Amino acid sequence: MGRVNADAKEDSFYMGKDFQLFFKSSVQSVIVKADAPQFTIVAVSDDFERNSLRKREELLGRGLFEMFPDNVENPDGRARAERAFMDVIATKNRITLPVYKYDIFTPETGKMVPHYWSNTNQPVFNEAGEVTYIINTTTNITRQELLRELNDSSQDYLLKQQERINKMFLNAPVGMALYTRDYIIEYANESICRMWNRGGPKEVVGKSLFELIPSLEKTDLKSIFDMVMETGKAYISKESPISYDRTGEVSVYYFDLHFEPIYGLDKEVTGFLSLANEVTEQVLARRKVENAEERLRLASEATGIGSWDLDLQTGQVIYSPILAELLGQPGKFDMSQEQMWSLLHPDDVHLANKAFEEAMETGIYHCQCRVLRADEQVCWIGVMGKVMYDTGKNPQRMIGTVMDITESKQEEIKKNDFIAIASHELKTPLTSLKAYAQFLKSGKNVSDVGFVASIAGRIEGQINKMTKLVYSFLDLSRIESGKIEVILEEVDMNQLIREVADDYVLQEKNHPVRFEPVELPVISVDKNKIMQVIDNLLSNAIKYTPQGGLVTITAQTDDDALIVSVTDQGIGIESTHVRKIFERYYRIDDLQVKNASGFGIGLYLCADIIKRHHGEIGLHSEPGKGSTFYFKLPLNP
Ligand code: ADP
Repeated sequence: MGRVNADAKEDSFYMGKDFQLFFKSSVQSVIVKADAPQFTIVAVSDDFERNSLRKREELLGRGLFEMFPDNVENPDGRARAERAFMDVIATKNRITLPVYKYDIFTPETGKMVPHYWSNTNQPVFNEAGEVTYIINTTTNITRQELLRELNDSSQDYLLKQQERINKMFLNAPVGMALYTRDYIIEYANESICRMWNRGGPKEVVGKSLFELIPSLEKTDLKSIFDMVMETGKAYISKESPISYDRTGEVSVYYFDLHFEPIYGLDKEVTGFLSLANEVTEQVLARRKVENAEERLRLASEATGIGSWDLDLQTGQVIYSPILAELLGQPGKFDMSQEQMWSLLHPDDVHLANKAFEEAMETGIYHCQCRVLRADEQVCWIGVMGKVMYDTGKNPQRMIGTVMDITESKQEEIKKNDFIAIASHELKTPLTSLKAYAQFLKSGKNVSDVGFVASIAGRIEGQINKMTKLVYSFLDLSRIESGKIEVILEEVDMNQLIREVADDYVLQEKNHPVRFEPVELPVISVDKNKIMQVIDNLLSNAIKYTPQGGLVTITAQTDDDALIVSVTDQGIGIESTHVRKIFERYYRIDDLQVKNASGFGIGLYLCADIIKRHHGEIGLHSEPGKGSTFYFKLPLNP
């Protein structure tokens, strides 16, 4: 330790101009007398003067602590400086205070400003070896210190931040893991550990993913990891299925994945980060809904039921492809309610409107109406709907179904027509019978046997007509209830035809009926029912043939069937009706047909009887020229 010898008695030496000049440019220093507790300032350097924010003249000769009173908020500063001075005096050693805080009073602001100092106190001895002066050299390290503090606190901040991030990663709902190039887990959070189900982060770190979960080897993961590391590009996928053993058996789980390469200092890929968000529940729940929707779609496709959803706020309707087809608007799946209404048959719009008004009251929509399709076809639709309300019970939407009910509607119309015609048909003979009965009751001409016989004949004719009618109704109900039976017996078809034809040959005055038998094999049929078929074909031939037209019956065989045909020279039938003519209640909408009595069930019964004989019924016809109805019966049924 170096010592400075000085003449203690000579304060004036330090106060003297020369010394002051010499000392002036020294680093920030102050020389004080070792006259504790005063510590009189005897010299200050320019730096000291500048940093102390006081004038040299003010300072010289004054006590150091008098000039720099303590900062009340930091009372330590002065005590420390004083202690250092006292130590220098006592120990005669140089005392260095590495860093201390000593706040300086700023007259401009009237505030104590924090300052950091590094301070050396060098003793100056007199000849007796006593400390007479102390050279205090201070380095203002406020800047460095503040920077260090800032640095410390930012380091602290960074550490805290890192801790927070770690915590966040650890508890994040997304599975996170860091891997080396060899798929060794370097870091794994709680979430990914739960997805793996092989222990917590501490247990899995340091292991290879594929050793940890061998079933993952069979997935594409390894090649995806390799790809990320080779290309250095991130891999992002949604709802990727990954099959692995999580709970003892291999099952499929779904994840949104994000694999990101990690680069080392020299920019080579050192591993990768993986983020895995499990969406198994969502995917399965959605699949369930999708499957249910698909089943519903298939069911509605199979049953031909269309569906619709009307937004009651906007008046916009969205609907299924089936409904688009029904409306004759394929490929268009939404329109306004008005547009949809405009597709309805004008006579039925009021029905749809009425049903809508009712739905607003009852919550249920039900309507049957006609649609005028773009292809000019008219089809009947049955519409059902239900109003959906919000929590305030205000109607929000109406959703429902639509079915093509054209067939059943036509059937219903035909049935209604049938009932009307049938009542009329029964009423006519009943009216005649009543008239004949009243005539006989009056007793007029009853002695005329011939006259009475002719009346009786007419009564019988009407009764036969009614009997036929009643039987055909009975047959119809038997067919519908599946109770019709075929009783086979060996029959000579020539004789059978003759039996039926003879009635017509004898009674029918307006139409010649011809039958020329050819040799036929004996055949096994239900005699009465086949007679009923021939009778029906003959009566139709006469009914739909103008007066004088010839009716011919033929019977012949081909390789394996016996064919009976009835040909007329009547009104004929358009080819469009050929397929439908054997349907129940089907009558051609034609004036000539309407003028002839009938209910559209004769040919339906014929077709049923022939079907029960495993035969075939059909016709050839030319409108205006005539028709040939035929049936084939198998020779070896
Ligand atoms: P209907 O009691 O009306 O005669 P059918 O079932 O016997 O009932 O016949 C159905 C429809 O087929 C008839 O209404 C008629 O329009 C047509 N039809 C049947 N036979 C003939 C025929 N020989 N010539 C022209 N049209 C016929």
